[in-house]
Amino acid sequence: MALKSSRNQEESDTAGVVEEKVVKVNGDIAIRRYNKGRFLGKGGFARCYEFTSLETRKIAAAKVVPKASLAKARAKQKLMSEIKIHRSLHHPNIVSFEHFFEDNENVYILLELCTNQTMNELLRRRKRLTELEVQCYLMQIISGMKYLHSHRVIHRDLKLGNFFLSDKMEVKIGDFGLATKLEHDGERKRTICGTPNYIAPEVLDGKQGHSYEVDVWSLGVVAYTLLVGKPPFETSDVKTTYRRIRMNAYSFPDHVPLSEQSKSLITRILVNDPSKRPSLDEMLDHEFFHQGNSIPKLLPPSTLACPPSSS
Ligand code: ADP
Repeated sequence: MALKSSRNQEESDTAGVVEEKVVKVNGDIAIRRYNKGRFLGKGGFARCYEFTSLETRKIAAAKVVPKASLAKARAKQKLMSEIKIHRSLHHPNIVSFEHFFEDNENVYILLELCTNQTMNELLRRRKRLTELEVQCYLMQIISGMKYLHSHRVIHRDLKLGNFFLSDKMEVKIGDFGLATKLEHDGERKRTICGTPNYIAPEVLDGKQGHSYEVDVWSLGVVAYTLLVGKPPFETSDVKTTYRRIRMNAYSFPDHVPLSEQSKSLITRILVNDPSKRPSLDEMLDHEFFHQGNSIPKLLPPSTLACPPSSS
């Protein structure tokens, strides 16, 4: 029953025009109108819809955050931090932030529309990916991550559901809800955050603080998940998953054929001591990216449903 009523709400939410009031330099008020279209998905506190500008016909993904969910100062501060960090980022492998505005009910964040969903849905359809695909996707993700880290931003929630795919099949890193910007490179963060399967051991430990290496750890989990079809530390309850992460208890299943190079990359990354993990540049130098065929810049859209024909 609850599910039915929430779906009805999504459907009834779908119609309508949203108005943005823009105050001009001379004090005049202009109105920009958007047609609120297809429901794209729902996250922790936002619902996402296609918004078409009635002036330019440009389509964006709009994250709609009800102001009622921002009553607590912490929630408001979190959204403001997400906006502040995300709007400062400009890179082909990061979801573009267009702009944001509010009306009486909601805050609207307009983002570049990624029409091919996320790598979560991709993996659900495909079960697992070929090494060539993982090389291609990871190269793009690492390129975006190098940009982020060079701007002192740690994402802290890298996972398949936060890797969006554009119409051209480019990977775009999104969702900066847990991201943080360091004041200086040596700073260590202490807040416990992340998503259970992808969380680094030093975040769970909490004592030593954490930094850029937590993103590298998550990329190791991502690589394993894409190649094997399920996350390395997954269990049916979070506590057991955390225990396995702390004990570094994972293995490569016999039934999945994996190259020595891919196992070596994952083994190098998933080490509990963050200082022993490779940097993003060291990851790119790893033999995993230098075996056999040249890596395509992009994959064809047919690979959303079927493996590429060359492998
Ligand atoms: P939250 O920050 O509340 O978790 P998300 O950023 O995860 O919200 O967005 C929720 C859902 O909206 C996503 O899972 C996805 O289905 C959809 N979505 C978010 N951003 C985009 C985008 N740029 N293009 C297309 N769909 C998107």
